[in-house]
Amino acid sequence: MDVLARRKLVSERFAERFGRQPLVWSQAPGRVDLMGSHTDYNLGYVLTQAIDRNTWIAARPRNDGKVSIQSLNLEGRAEFTLDQIEHDTAVPWTDYVRGVAAILRQQGYPLVGFDGLIHSTIPFGSGLSSSAALEMATAVLFRALGDLEIDPVQMALLCQRAENEFVGMNCGILDQYSSAMGRAGSVLLLDCRDLSSKTKPLAGGIQVVVCDTRAQRELTGSEYPERRAQCEEGVRILANFYPGIQALRDLSIEQLEFHKATLPGMVYRRCRFIIEENQRVLDMADALTAGGRDQISVLAAASYAGARDLYEISCEEMELMMAAMLSAPGVIGARQAGAGFGGCMVAFVEQGQVEAFAWHVGERYQASSGIEPHAYPVSAAPGAGPLSW
Ligand code: ADP
Ligand code: MG
Repeated sequence: MDVLARRKLVSERFAERFGRQPLVWSQAPGRVDLMGSHTDYNLGYVLTQAIDRNTWIAARPRNDGKVSIQSLNLEGRAEFTLDQIEHDTAVPWTDYVRGVAAILRQQGYPLVGFDGLIHSTIPFGSGLSSSAALEMATAVLFRALGDLEIDPVQMALLCQRAENEFVGMNCGILDQYSSAMGRAGSVLLLDCRDLSSKTKPLAGGIQVVVCDTRAQRELTGSEYPERRAQCEEGVRILANFYPGIQALRDLSIEQLEFHKATLPGMVYRRCRFIIEENQRVLDMADALTAGGRDQISVLAAASYAGARDLYEISCEEMELMMAAMLSAPGVIGARQAGAGFGGCMVAFVEQGQVEAFAWHVGERYQASSGIEPHAYPVSAAPGAGPLSW
């Protein structure tokens, strides 16, 4: 859908639901990681980009201190007062909006209420960070309505806190940061320790293609916190030998190997993946900038092998998608994306062969898994901000 058609749709629906036209619009993009799975909460590096799939909120300020929110993507509506923000068990998705409001309030920002309608082109729960985009679009809206002074990194941190503390998902900073700091045409090399990032141009002729396995994730919800805890356990044990280390970021592979025997096997494997993956981020940043096809291919393959064998975040559908991507025309390299366990994967593809690549992936993956995948090119998009017409 082009931007004008989308704007028209959202304006019309807004008028139907709230009786008037929206006055203020915000947008926040989803993201895809090109290298660096689970490195963010280990205070390491991630190579990431905001994508041209995003979440909009069309809004109109209210003067009664209330927020009334609806979404064109999900059923349900909610109205809450900014003075007393509670969780919503009936319409749980509104907790992302409530959470951002609650954290901003807690930080002392004066908030203006609004009628708001959300519309997103990011698939949910598939690793492209629709949750962070919703949070960031909400924060941008509050900033615009209240004339607040918050810079993008601060906003990302506040939105992360909303997800950690209000929604109850202990995610790292990657999703919100990418959505806040995206730059059109560039990938970001993010340092999760000091929250600085360098923009890197992607070498000409290479297209990033998202391949969504659309696998039903059968997660208990404990997989992510378990891995976090295993990494923390590794740090705790290894700090006995290297006092002062704070995160796996602070360790080399040699140091890990030297003390391998002191670590439970699973903790060792998790640590090994993170330390290696962290180095791969730096190497991939160079390879993608220089356009070194062989290096991109090797790094992506090593990242996936580690994700499957050491970090154990793969699944059958991801295995089948890897086979489909790697056998497709024009492929340079392919790996997991997001947290793993199904969801989206990412391929680097020769620009002229993107259509043939996507067609092959569609055929091959559907034949092997029985699921129709979605494969589409994405381009690096600007970070969250107001939309003006
Ligand atoms: P991801 O961030 O990978 O897409 P999450 O499980 O973290 O997956 O977040 C997805 C959830 O975020 C959805 O199930 C929904 O609750 C909420 N959400 C995201 N975008 C929207 C939207 N446009 N409208 C309503 N809820 C949304
Ligand atoms: Mg999310």
